[in-house]
Amino acid sequence: MAKRDYYEILGVSKGATADEIKKAYRKVAIQFHPDKNPDNKEAEEKFKEAAEAYEVLSDSNKRAQYDRYGHSRGNGGFGGHTMDMDDIFSQFGDIFGGGGGPFESFFGGGGRRRQRKGSNLRIKLKLTLEEIANGAEKKIKVNRLIQAEGVTFKTCTSCQGTGQMRKVVNTMLGQMVSATTCSQCNGSGQLIDKRPSGVDSSGLTSKEEIINIKIPAGVSDGMQLSMSGKGNEAPGGGIAGDLLILIEEQEDKVLKRDGNNLIYDLHISFIDAALGTSVEVPSISGKVKVKIEPGTQSGKILRLRGKGVKDINGYETGDQLIYINVWTPKRLSAEERSILENLKNSPNFTPHPDASDKGFFEKMKEFFH
Ligand SMILES: [Zn+2]
Repeated sequence: MAKRDYYEILGVSKGATADEIKKAYRKVAIQFHPDKNPDNKEAEEKFKEAAEAYEVLSDSNKRAQYDRYGHSRGNGGFGGHTMDMDDIFSQFGDIFGGGGGPFESFFGGGGRRRQRKGSNLRIKLKLTLEEIANGAEKKIKVNRLIQAEGVTFKTCTSCQGTGQMRKVVNTMLGQMVSATTCSQCNGSGQLIDKRPSGVDSSGLTSKEEIINIKIPAGVSDGMQLSMSGKGNEAPGGGIAGDLLILIEEQEDKVLKRDGNNLIYDLHISFIDAALGTSVEVPSISGKVKVKIEPGTQSGKILRLRGKGVKDINGYETGDQLIYINVWTPKRLSAEERSILENLKNSPNFTPHPDASDKGFFEKMKEFFH
């Protein structure tokens, strides 16, 4: 479910003008239009993918955000904003010129002629950091609307089963036929004749189902994944809607997430800092032994390469960063006090940082650049 780059989807460069983006989208939309590719799931996905890419890249605000943050970040994230076919077709007004334009005639006056689609089903899914870092497979109970058994249909009397109402309109350019979705049957061409009790007026009934969801590694809070065809079924037949899964990230008490990096705060005594030691540190893949060099300064950051979260879009994996805090005892016994007082005047205990003892800001620069 990793998402492709929007520019790549439309086949344009990052510096493409608004006009170039529009032209590129028009080409891709025609190529993968459902009317040209009936019952082709792959084409439908490409068609939706292109619409989503165009929706973002055609809006200068959204495009700027996407350029900065990519799919996963930004305001609420673009990560999986799924457009419904209705949104896509309504977008066509702008792309192909109002009133249908060349696009409608290209498809025989049926820009909207398509299979009916059921509504989308939305669920929230809470994930632990471990599940996010490694990816997860979840079994989720959902209540889907499905076609009820024992429902009988009759042909819609308003549209005679075509699903459309046609109207001849006189315009400056002569007579034009405009087609709208039949309001009686909502475009399905049929009406319910008989339905058992518990079945709603569109012939659907709620059914509990267990759905197996594969979550890729590297998702983040607010991201939305979509499984096509796992939403509600369409009244009177057609294709089922999508299951939209909103990711909620449970905060981890031990490891803090910063993008794909994980941060762990380690406290060591100043004796261990001076003498050096070896400690066990928790990581996403179990305990890891870490060596603390003699003479370690407070604020030092150690990096465990590849122990972070796998990037959702690529092959890279973040790191675990260990922040070393040298802990100072808050109370001393008389004996401890006297030992420390003996050391007090030793020149070694007077701070004299050299060039390698970088301050906080230097370290930040080094790690985040
Ligand atoms: Zn009808």
